[in-house]
Amino acid sequence: PMASLILELQGLSAGYGEIQVLWGIDMSVRRGEITALIGSNGAGKTTLMRALSGLIPTQGGYYFSEGRDLTGDTSAEILAHGIVHVPEGRRLFGAMSVEDNLLMGAYSRKIGRGELVRDLDRVYATFPKLRERRNQAAATLSGGEQQMCAIGRGLMSAPRLLMIDELSLGLSPLLVEQLVAALRALNGEGMSILLVEQDVTTALDICHSAYVMDMGRIVRTGLGTELLADPIIREAYLGVL
Ligand code: ATP
Repeated sequence: PMASLILELQGLSAGYGEIQVLWGIDMSVRRGEITALIGSNGAGKTTLMRALSGLIPTQGGYYFSEGRDLTGDTSAEILAHGIVHVPEGRRLFGAMSVEDNLLMGAYSRKIGRGELVRDLDRVYATFPKLRERRNQAAATLSGGEQQMCAIGRGLMSAPRLLMIDELSLGLSPLLVEQLVAALRALNGEGMSILLVEQDVTTALDICHSAYVMDMGRIVRTGLGTELLADPIIREAYLGVL
């Protein structure tokens, strides 16, 4: 394993009980980059994020972060290492305030009040809307604000790698633009991001490199710009030639 890779997957397989969904996934996620994972519905993208964050067991292969073997580690250990999963559907605590949701992200970190306040401030600087609404119940946020809150909660876990599942799902183009700008800014400060995104144009536009998944396998990889110009990708995922 290479110490420079924030995630390195070697032949990773995973699924649900007897059902195998992922078949021998090889991937390299470089530090400081945005890496996109695209593919049609049911390709296995969410399953891969669940396996990487320890929510479901792997069935074969290995994965490493900066040289450390995470295979078989618990979700708590993986989180403590800094592999942070922002799940599809956002999964906020609806009755709790925005700020309490954010604080939940820091729940397992052993940090003092000062550091907590500083990290909260950093999240609010990234998403000023959240500061305005910090005392409001999360359930009353708009879809875009909920996604900001979910990402903010992820940031409160002090990620080395932020894995975001379905950034744009159900959001208007304007909101997606705002979220993309926020991710670019975070990445500009050095944050490594693994992005699962249904909107292939958005994903390939924002990423450095991308992996294309189909039926539980990686079928293509390259720079975002390369894949965006690739006729096969354009026909299969963008519906244009
Ligand atoms: P989508 O974008 O539609 O969520 P995806 O690429 O994230 O697609 P997954 O959600 O990972 O795909 O699903 C991959 C496969 O795993 C599908 O065939 C799905 O039916 C199956 N699957 C997902 N969750 C479960 C589960 N809890 N138990 C059994 N099979 C599952």
